[in-house]
Amino acid sequence: MLRTLLLSLCLCSATAAAVDPVFDVHVHLRDGEKSWREYQESVRTAGLELSGAGVMWFGGPHQARQGDLAKIRAGNDRVIALAAAHPGVVAIATVHPYDGEAAREELARVAAAGVKVLKIHAHTQGFDVSDARVETLVRRAGELGVIVLMDNANILPSDTEKLFNLVVRVPGTRFILAHIGGLNFRFWNVLTLARTADGFGMDNLYFDISATVLAVADSPVEAEFVWTLRNVGIDHVLLGSDYPQIGLDVTVDALERLDLNDEEKAKIRSGNARKLFGL
Ligand SMILES: [Zn+2]
Repeated sequence: MLRTLLLSLCLCSATAAAVDPVFDVHVHLRDGEKSWREYQESVRTAGLELSGAGVMWFGGPHQARQGDLAKIRAGNDRVIALAAAHPGVVAIATVHPYDGEAAREELARVAAAGVKVLKIHAHTQGFDVSDARVETLVRRAGELGVIVLMDNANILPSDTEKLFNLVVRVPGTRFILAHIGGLNFRFWNVLTLARTADGFGMDNLYFDISATVLAVADSPVEAEFVWTLRNVGIDHVLLGSDYPQIGLDVTVDALERLDLNDEEKAKIRSGNARKLFGL
């Protein structure tokens, strides 16, 4: 009896997942096609259907370092080729902000090849978010119609405050801040107050909840996290796993456990990403 019940519960959840595809905006593929197949396999094993994925080539020790121009170009070309071969894959390129004009040239090159997202990571690439070269680069991204994905795990001093001011200074560029401030997510409720000031709509600001959603689901601060998502705007919240460090299965599971309604979860699961990337 119990076994029958458990089996039917499993079938129900598998069916629910099957009709409700997920867009994962935060996927690292260290070994191109091979990693993509492994990722897809992990998604299938979890009983999930993929609506699409934002894929990037770096992570950990594989960062785009300042001056590594040939390596950066080659890595970007691999991601572009992967996206061309697989519908639903959004190519995420990278450059190093301190490479100045060369970085902006590479950004223009990948944008011309159809890249819609640039990822830069202050902690692992070793740059300061408040450096003028970062602002110049992300301004150029906006002019090219490229969305900028930046890490916001709050592992650097004043990470969130610097990002807030960068987003304010460059309103013509759309930003996705990964991890929504980590365990300092509470900061972003400042948007409700900032938006009362003239010219502070900050509609160019999006968040992915990768990693952080795992820490907050069923935690003492879950209610505050849900309150934060509603304050920044549910339409501006995206789901990401940060694979391979974290799987999409546990990420979707954590989102499901949040006390959001079905409409809000559907937007976060894929609707917002599809709209943002024009799919
Ligand atoms: Zn990541």
